[in-house]
Amino acid sequence: MSKVVIVGAGVNGVTAAIELKKRGHQVILIDPGPLPHPLAASTDISKAVRAAYGADNDYTELAERSIKLWRKWNEEFGIELYHEVGVMFVRRREMEPGDFEYESFKMLQKRGLKVERMNSAQVWRRFPAWNPELFRDGILEVEAGYAESGRSVAALIKRAKSLGVELLERHKFEALDDVNGRITTVILSEVEESRGESLKVTSRGPSTPLGMTRIAGDRVVMTVGAWTPYLLPFTKKFFRASGQPVFHLKPRQPELFTHERFPVFGADITATGYYGFPLNRDGIVKIANHGPGREMSPESSQRTVTSEDEANLRNFLSWAFPDLADAQIVYTRVCMYCETHDGNFWIAQDPERQGLVIAAGDCGHGFKFAPVLGEIIADAVEEKSNPILEKFRWRPEVRAGSGTDVARFHGENESTTRLSE
Ligand SMILES: Cc1cc2nc3c(=O)[nH]c(=O)nc-3n(C[C@H](O)[C@H](O)[C@H](O)COP(=O)(O)OP(=O)(O)OC[C@H]3O[C@@H](n4cnc5c(N)ncnc54)[C@H](O)[C@@H]3O)c2cc1C
Repeated sequence: MSKVVIVGAGVNGVTAAIELKKRGHQVILIDPGPLPHPLAASTDISKAVRAAYGADNDYTELAERSIKLWRKWNEEFGIELYHEVGVMFVRRREMEPGDFEYESFKMLQKRGLKVERMNSAQVWRRFPAWNPELFRDGILEVEAGYAESGRSVAALIKRAKSLGVELLERHKFEALDDVNGRITTVILSEVEESRGESLKVTSRGPSTPLGMTRIAGDRVVMTVGAWTPYLLPFTKKFFRASGQPVFHLKPRQPELFTHERFPVFGADITATGYYGFPLNRDGIVKIANHGPGREMSPESSQRTVTSEDEANLRNFLSWAFPDLADAQIVYTRVCMYCETHDGNFWIAQDPERQGLVIAAGDCGHGFKFAPVLGEIIADAVEEKSNPILEKFRWRPEVRAGSGTDVARFHGENESTTRLSE
């Protein structure tokens, strides 16, 4: 068995650490912390868990398996991390072939998954917050919902520690170090600790700069999400970090937004980008935009929601959910995607840097696969064959604009405003 150094303890890093530990490897998981890290994409109150992926059978199959495992995790962890409240994707016109919603409907039906068509007044009566005059058609995926992402990462970190994963917090990756062309070592800086706890310094080789630490291993796995193009500049040609606005709202009539009447949704998502979640236990309705976003570093000072983001949200609410239009915004956040040119994840060995594996490129849709991510990344580390790794392979040949998550909004077009205007 080998010694694996994993950098970044978001959902990619911690699930990989657990799986590799289970397979008998010595595993060190490094993150500046505190965990779940407040700036991490994985740290939020909710992430949608859906099998609706248009005509893409790979993601649909992976999501279907993940949903079964999310249910199992609820039992294993003894807490409801995943809420199976249903996910609806609706349009302002009748669905037609080629639409994300239409193709998802066909695919989910073909796979025997529970899905309802939302094209009758009777169906819409169940969801009073929605304007049935406006939204005409769509799908309700019944066996889907949302995961409490931050809580899930916290539970997974605990499990990793209990399995013997060596967690090295308050250390930050600074650089890779190769020995004879093989990446076996990472150089870390120590993060100042305001709470006065003593720091665990592991090893400081002769050539290690002051205040730096070297951690050596047989394999190095980089799972630093949107930080990847900044920490590994050679990846800038195939990764881009983009910031997406997220809003937490306090509705005046919370009873309209409970999950029975307001499941997870995508509101004409390929034309508006807007999606959201039912009222959570703290009385919050989260709404965000799965759109082009703004390119920036995860540590940029620009990483704040703009007045334009807020104005766009208010405009959307005014016509989609009039009862939410004047809801108080109690929290905002810019959450970061690690984008690839084709919208697919990137989980692969670096062909030019032996010993290095990069597992990133979430494109804003990776969290739902948490229950299967660990095994996929571990297979890449162990160079085991896994059909899905072909989709996530090292592919510098893929150019920008080669595709994206099928449920994604690409930017302004005539239909982002209210149809009837
Ligand atoms: C707004 C938004 C909404 C989303 N909604 C959904 C959804 O509904 N459904 C879904 O399936 N997915 C969704 N996603 C995608 C999901 O969040 C990601 O797929 C997932 O969280 C990516 O995890 P990660 O581990 O790659 O990155 P992260 O969670 O960002 O973790 C990266 C880790 O690297 C660490 N790190 C950074 N720098 C260093 C360093 N120098 N040294 C060591 N460690 C470092 C950080 O501290 C962090 O813990 C969404 C993402 C965003 C941004």
